[in-house]
Amino acid sequence: MTNNIYEYKDDQDWYVGSYSIFGGIRTLTDDELEFPLFDLSKIFRDEERGFPLSVTVLRYSSDYRLLSFIVDILNQEANRNLEVIQRQGALLLVENGKLLHVELPKEGVDVEAFFETSRVRETLLIATRNEGKTKEFRAIFDKLGYDVENLNDYPDLPEVAETGMTFEENARLKAETISKLTGKMVLADDSGLKVDVLGGLPGVWSARFAGVGASDEENNAKLLHELAMVFELKDRSAQFHTTLVVASPGKESLVVEADWPGYINFEPKGENGFGYDPLFLVGETGKSSAELTLEEKNSQSHRALAVKKLLEVFPSWQSKPSL
Ligand code: IMP
Repeated sequence: MTNNIYEYKDDQDWYVGSYSIFGGIRTLTDDELEFPLFDLSKIFRDEERGFPLSVTVLRYSSDYRLLSFIVDILNQEANRNLEVIQRQGALLLVENGKLLHVELPKEGVDVEAFFETSRVRETLLIATRNEGKTKEFRAIFDKLGYDVENLNDYPDLPEVAETGMTFEENARLKAETISKLTGKMVLADDSGLKVDVLGGLPGVWSARFAGVGASDEENNAKLLHELAMVFELKDRSAQFHTTLVVASPGKESLVVEADWPGYINFEPKGENGFGYDPLFLVGETGKSSAELTLEEKNSQSHRALAVKKLLEVFPSWQSKPSL
């Protein structure tokens, strides 16, 4: 037993735990609770220690997160090598290549899809050639048990033109076209800046606001020009927006979106980020998103918010049978 205290906290889930003797999973108000995961605690129980963790759950939305939290503590404290893998909405507990337990979602899983491949891990293809973006998504989906690829692994695929008038149309176009061509599960994103007083522009034209092939500086200069007659900061409200679409053959696509609110400053400031970051003042902070560190931005940005939403709904979407 050690004195280490572990914590996991995000908007939906918050747990505090320690490695102990005869512990349990509790909330602040209730005694031992019947979590959907409760049966799983049996496989961690041992003769001497009982359930070897004390976990207090302050917020709860995800079986996957709670199980991962438990597994992380056991790996660290008890030298286990456990891994939690999501497959078709089921949770698989694996150690050293051995499957120890499967926790099925209430609605069950599609038998053919579940057993269709001998690979335990499924593949998610990100519809981008940008390795930076791929790296961000890989960090997230690797933990969920997915191997992440991008379009650089498929050099012969044609470019999908972003001809949509909305973020969703563009993200759908990319995800659904590439999923049809490859037969894979594909995630595509489309992001941009929406300025209220400009009726949502630059919107889907964010990357080419000052013309096709425009630089970030040229786009920022064009935005300042368009707002030259808007003198009050409160009238320069804006949101960075992201839409994410996951497409899979024979399935209705999954769509999530998120906004990051703020204001457009009167001049650029800050050295970090890209695109419109130097002009975008985050919420009421007065700081531009180019003044945030990468970690600060990645924990609150439109992309981060959209990914959080995606992770909430992805397991149940994934477990739905194909049409
Ligand atoms: P994409 O869909 O992620 O390629 O984004 C399209 C355009 O929106 C980019 O070229 C940027 O001009 C703008 N944009 C999207 N996300 C951000 C951001 O986080 N900071 C600054 N600009 C962004």
